[in-house]
Amino acid sequence: MQIHKIIQALEQFAPPTLRESYDNVGLLTGDAAWHCTGILISLDATEEVVLEAKARGCNLVISHHPIIFGGLKKITGSNYVEKAVIASIKNDIALYAIHTNLDNVKEGVNGRISDLLELRNRQIILPKTGFLRKLISFVPIDKIDIVRNALFSAGAGQIGNYSECSFQAEGTGSFLAGEGTNPYAGQQGSRHYEKESRLEVIFPSYLERGVISALKASHPYEEVAFDVVELQNQWDRVGSGIIGELVEEMEELQFLGRLKELFRVPVVRHTELRNKTIRRIAVCGGAGSFLVNRALQLKADIYVTGDMKYHEFFDANGQMVIADVGHFETEQFTVDLLYDILAEKFPTFAVFKTGVLTNPVNYYI
Ligand SMILES: [Zn+2]
Repeated sequence: MQIHKIIQALEQFAPPTLRESYDNVGLLTGDAAWHCTGILISLDATEEVVLEAKARGCNLVISHHPIIFGGLKKITGSNYVEKAVIASIKNDIALYAIHTNLDNVKEGVNGRISDLLELRNRQIILPKTGFLRKLISFVPIDKIDIVRNALFSAGAGQIGNYSECSFQAEGTGSFLAGEGTNPYAGQQGSRHYEKESRLEVIFPSYLERGVISALKASHPYEEVAFDVVELQNQWDRVGSGIIGELVEEMEELQFLGRLKELFRVPVVRHTELRNKTIRRIAVCGGAGSFLVNRALQLKADIYVTGDMKYHEFFDANGQMVIADVGHFETEQFTVDLLYDILAEKFPTFAVFKTGVLTNPVNYYI
C-alpha cells in the first residue's frame, strides 16, 4: 500500500484545510508514492521516534506535532528538529503531521478527552466560520431526487447531527438551445420553458469539487445552472475546544483527583476553588489559554487544558476553575485516536504506537 492511501484515510477524518493558518501539516519528509512498510504513531517525531520506526521496520511516522514548524535554514543536526529530519531522510522514513486539523474536528483531540471525561451534550467552544458553502441548482422536477441523492452521497446536506438536509421550491426556468446543442427538453432555436425545482444544499468547502462533480454527473442538462455561495455561518462540528457536561456533578477536589488519575499526572496546577460543584466542563488539549474567556462566557465550571502561564490563571476571575494538567498529558490520547482510525481502515496493516515517552517535561515530586 502506498503512503498516499494512508494519508487519504487520515485526511478524510481531519481534512488539512481545517488547520489553523500558522500550522504546517501534511507530509513533511519522504514521498507519498512510497510503498508503506509500517506506521509508527507518536505525539512528537523526535530522532528517537524515527529510529524506533526504523527498528520496527516502519517507513512512516505519523505525529500530532509537526517537527518542521518554522523554516529550516540549515540541516546540520545542531538541534532536535534537524536531528529528526536527518534521521528520517537518511533512513528513508517519511514524516507526516496531523496537527490543528485534528484539534479542530469534533471527534478529534478534544473529542477523545471528552470521551475520557464522559462528557455529554458536547459543543465546540469556538466554532469556525468560513468553511461552509451553499449549492443552489435548478433541476427538472422529475429528476430532483436523482440529483439530490447524488449530492447527499457526495457529502452535502449535513447540519449538526442531521443528514440529508435540503430545500426545494418549484418554479419555471427558460432556455434557448443554440447551434450544436442537444437539449434535454424543447427544440433548438426556440425558447423553452421548463418546470424546475430550485434545490439548495449546504456542504463544507473542502468537499466542493466532489459535490459539483456529483451535481454535473447526475443533472440531465448539458449546461447545468448552479451557484456556490460562501456562508458566514459558524460550523458547529469544527473549531477549538469542547464544552460538555458530566452525567453527575462532582465536588471540585474529587474532580481534580479524577483528572490526576485519568491524565496520569502527579500534580494538577489550578486556580482557587469556588466551593461549588462541577458539572459543566470545558476542555482543550495542548496549549489552551486562548479559550479561557470563551469558556467563561459559556459558563464552564472548570476548564481543563495545558500550558497555562502565571498571568493567564488570573483570568479565571473566581468564576471558573482553570486546571492545567500539562500539554503532553492532555494530548496523549491522540496517539490512540490515530491508531484507532488507521486500525479500523487497515485492520491487517502494521500500525504501532510509539514506546518512546517524548514529553520533555518531568516532575520531581
Ligand atoms: Zn500540542
